[in-house]
Amino acid sequence: MTASTRTTRAVDVHALPAMLTALRLPSFHRHWTALAECADTEGWPAARFLAALAEVELAERETRRIQRHLAESRLPGGKTLATFDFKALPGVPRARVEALAAGDWVETGANLIAIGNSGAGKTHLLCAIGHALVETGRRVFYTRTTDLVQRLQAARRDLALEAALGKLDKYDLIILDDIGYAQKDQAETSVLFELIARRYETRSLAIAANQPFSAWERVFPDKAVTVAAIDRLVHHATILEMNVDSYRRRAAADRTTAEINSRATTTDNLADNLADNQDHPVGDSLAEKAEKDVII
Ligand code: ADP
Ligand code: MG
Repeated sequence: MTASTRTTRAVDVHALPAMLTALRLPSFHRHWTALAECADTEGWPAARFLAALAEVELAERETRRIQRHLAESRLPGGKTLATFDFKALPGVPRARVEALAAGDWVETGANLIAIGNSGAGKTHLLCAIGHALVETGRRVFYTRTTDLVQRLQAARRDLALEAALGKLDKYDLIILDDIGYAQKDQAETSVLFELIARRYETRSLAIAANQPFSAWERVFPDKAVTVAAIDRLVHHATILEMNVDSYRRRAAADRTTAEINSRATTTDNLADNLADNQDHPVGDSLAEKAEKDVII
């Protein structure tokens, strides 16, 4: 069938919804009547109408893709840059974090390592960066290191480690939280090392650790594997040192101070009210009124 025979043939407009569904164009389906009305009223050429519909389809497709990727990322809700208080982390400049959130580093498979004490905001910051990367179209997976290690160890027992690692290749970034809590792998080769070696220079890892590198020997089977793992991780890496007081503890301390202050304010107000009442005692005015009533 040529283009000209196609145009002379009657077109079944009623079949349009079914055709759009078959073509997987849900946004065309949703918006075409409103846009057609606009096109008719404003006299758009057919090409403009078609282009407007294609734009809507692409934009909504992108939104749906980001929502899907956010769901698969398992990133905890609410840990975003919008809710991150940069003043609480003076050693890590906002501009540096924003550059990491733009995501060029994941294109080359570089890594990000956040080391600091508990409550310093490592999880929040890495998740916030992960969240921003999903919004730029990258695929991210957040996991506690212990959970992933257990999953990979189970896969190894089933002789399916290679396949399990392969499935993780689709993620531009894997966030391994709390690496220090990962159990030492009793087997000769640690699954965690396998993961690090496989992703080296191709796919990024972001790691949160409560302990400095010197204590990582607890995570890997022996010193040689520990050195080899750290060597690969830090070769192309941004390392954020986050040794600040626990945000939780500071927030709790602030709340206590605020409570004490508010209690003090309430007591002050009470004292002021009492003083006011002594200046203008309620009883007096009633007595005055009663006196007046008697006079009248
Ligand atoms: P870590 O992973 O270093 O132990 P978290 O990221 O879990 O610390 O932070 C502990 C709590 O404090 C979380 O609820 C987190 O959202 C909050 N928090 C930590 N740092 C900040 C910050 N700079 N701004 C806002 N919230 C923060
Ligand atoms: Mg944490």
